[in-house]
Amino acid sequence: MLGLPPWERILHRLRHDYALATVAALAGCGALVILPFAVYRFLSGQIVVGVIDVLVALSLLVPTWHALVTGNNRIAFVAMMTLAGIGAVAVSRFLGLAGHFWLFPLVVASYAVVGLRRALVVGFVLIALVLVFGTGIERMPDRLSYAATAALVVILAAISAYQVERQRCALELAAATDALTGVGNRRKMDADLRQAAELAARGSPLPAVLVLDIDHFKSINDRFGHEAGDRVLSEFAQLISHAVRQSDRVYRMGGEEFLVLLPMVDPNGLDVVAEKLRRCIEANLRCAGGAVTCSLGAALHQRGESVDAWVGRADKALYQAKQAGRNQACIATWSPDPRRQFGPERRNASSAQAPPSS
Ligand code: GH3
Ligand code: MG
Ligand code: MG
Repeated sequence: MLGLPPWERILHRLRHDYALATVAALAGCGALVILPFAVYRFLSGQIVVGVIDVLVALSLLVPTWHALVTGNNRIAFVAMMTLAGIGAVAVSRFLGLAGHFWLFPLVVASYAVVGLRRALVVGFVLIALVLVFGTGIERMPDRLSYAATAALVVILAAISAYQVERQRCALELAAATDALTGVGNRRKMDADLRQAAELAARGSPLPAVLVLDIDHFKSINDRFGHEAGDRVLSEFAQLISHAVRQSDRVYRMGGEEFLVLLPMVDPNGLDVVAEKLRRCIEANLRCAGGAVTCSLGAALHQRGESVDAWVGRADKALYQAKQAGRNQACIATWSPDPRRQFGPERRNASSAQAPPSS
């Protein structure tokens, strides 16, 4: 991202920052609608209202541009809301009744700009300010009617913003979760591994990964059916999720392979964690054929190492554990010489495993 030219950086933000893209669309539409009115006001001699219109359009466009160029949404969005709010109150004063209508699009758009709770407060504060400083609605019943419709708009917009937010959270969770086991899916795993490697590059403690593969899983499917296999996968995921710390993350890489990300781990304790998980599965996971075991490969991240290289080392360690007879944990050590990447740490309870008997 940092290496991209400015225009591509802006396009990247528009494609990946949902909130910024929404606010940019709203601000663009707002400015497009307001500017012709500004021209009309100047041509018809209403200079003050014309200047206010131009300032309101600029209060939408300048903060949006600032957010697009710098990526700093927070300051830009707060500035936009404050300036556009002042503009809405100003037109309600200088334009009279016609100026009051500008409050409605502003309070609806505020949910995208400052979020649900702040937008509720902003909405009611703006209604109060327009009622105090606005002109053109003099009779009390008319003022009450205006206040009631404006309050309804604020509340109805809050309800729909709340529902949209709930659906967005549910979709986000579904997009990150493996449907069968309930742990993180591969997409989420890739994103979290990239983030862990980036944090490590900036000096955070080194993370580690454990790659786990159920031993002779195909024979469980073949002998007891696909449903029994699915049940083993679900139970495996639950056992591992309960055995690791709350800060650790479990993902299904695919098939009967899982990955555990340990965001921070004592480098000397990695083999202890791997051995704990291996024993947990050996002691608790059962199918109709008896105990089910797994093999593990673990790798501590090296600063500056790519995610592919890091997980690749754990995969090779897993392969070593399989080669050594399964139901083993093997820890990858790091060495610039690829022939010396596997340490002597190899733990197991028994020697080569036979498939679960029927
Ligand atoms: P190893 O000990 O060498 O790991 O042998 P294995 O039998 O566990 O490994 P192999 O790669 O030969 O077989 C994996 C099997 O996992 C094959 C595939 O049908 C099965 N599998 C993959 N995804 C699913 C799934 O979602 N549900 C079920 N029930 N089986 C699956
Ligand atoms: Mg397997
Ligand atoms: Mg496998």
